[in-house]
Amino acid sequence: MGEAQEFFLDELQEVLPVGFDSESRGYQTATVVGEKIYAIGGSDDGVTLSISVRIFNKSTGKWVIPTMLGMKPAPCKGHSAVLLNKDRILILKRDAPPDDCTWFLEVDTPFVKEQKEILDTEVVAWSKGVKGEGPKPVVISGPSGVGKGTLITKLVNDFPSTFGFSVSHTTRAPRDKEKDGIHYHFTERSVMEKDTQDGKFLEFAHVHGNLYGTSIEAVEKVTDSGKRCILDIDVQGARSVKASSLEVISFFICPPSFEELEKRLRARGTETEEQVQNRLRNARAELEQGNSSGLFDHILVNGDLETCYGSLKKILGLDGSTNTGYQPSTKNIEIPAAAQSVFEMDQKVLIQCGSTELGKASNSLFVLDVSSLRGGAPGRTRGLNMYAIWKWPKNNRTTSKSHIETLE
Ligand code: 5GP
Repeated sequence: MGEAQEFFLDELQEVLPVGFDSESRGYQTATVVGEKIYAIGGSDDGVTLSISVRIFNKSTGKWVIPTMLGMKPAPCKGHSAVLLNKDRILILKRDAPPDDCTWFLEVDTPFVKEQKEILDTEVVAWSKGVKGEGPKPVVISGPSGVGKGTLITKLVNDFPSTFGFSVSHTTRAPRDKEKDGIHYHFTERSVMEKDTQDGKFLEFAHVHGNLYGTSIEAVEKVTDSGKRCILDIDVQGARSVKASSLEVISFFICPPSFEELEKRLRARGTETEEQVQNRLRNARAELEQGNSSGLFDHILVNGDLETCYGSLKKILGLDGSTNTGYQPSTKNIEIPAAAQSVFEMDQKVLIQCGSTELGKASNSLFVLDVSSLRGGAPGRTRGLNMYAIWKWPKNNRTTSKSHIETLE
């Protein structure tokens, strides 16, 4: 077991530092990570617990409210918390639907460390747990006019229940027929700059003189709807995503020739001559980087649209072939609602469930294997595996009460 301890607040107030008690009221669990105690929970109405987070620093004796990244879990009736790998706290929500019961509060992962440096403040980040691999988001990059939009539209139209488009933010003006919230979130530069500083973006880049970016929320919204997210981003954005913990499958779309790209860009008729020239200049640099850097998993030439689309579908496993790069097992873990106690041992989280009512022999032990976790904030945490369940004999309950439980 790790060195860190998780406390059940009511039971262990006496061992918690002075100053913790007075402000910890209403919080549900406390998890010690080095010098810090993460108090999680809190009740707005005395019944439903929201999942807020405060940090008590033992060395300074002070409380800090951290910047919270990612979409936080919806309120619930209680939760269990257990520290994993000294960098994230597994939260099992009680009485939550299966797709919303397993969460991770990242407190010291590489992503959180990086954000702490950028934001120069305490940071925690939420990431929802999914069983198995889950669908990797699809990144599609390529120079302006190459036909990325057409390919994406075809994918989304042909497989509407499989794919969803991550709606980016941009400071550029809408074109005719472009709708706010559908094609882009058209945003003021000052607002977008503040949001990037506040860590709301997975990636952002200056492209053709404007700011473009993918918000964490845009990706999570698609994922939460059970769909595989498609990101249409430039090469700089693809590089940022590759450096992040978000695992994606990436495509770079090339034109058959530079002349053909120029022809298509002009035929589109959405840019002024000056803008066309700017986009063509950038296209040269993008083609060079996209083709040579090993940045992308796949490079496809869009000479003939149907051929290129066919290759894209094949790689995504949409043509019945086996090379899917993705298993469509997005089903979330089903943690039993009546989890009584939770503890971690050797990368296995043991969840004891059952009724405490006299005469009910319903105790059982679930094992959540967390040895192969992948991804994490700012995306989902994948690789969870619930693989063993067994019932305990009626009169053979454990005598050692687990050191962490949820409060009633
Ligand atoms: P457009 O103005 O033609 O819609 O897009 C211009 C370029 O910005 C395209 O190459 C597109 O892929 C890229 N882009 C669109 N959204 C994003 C985003 O969220 N992040 C980044 N990095 N690039 C984006």
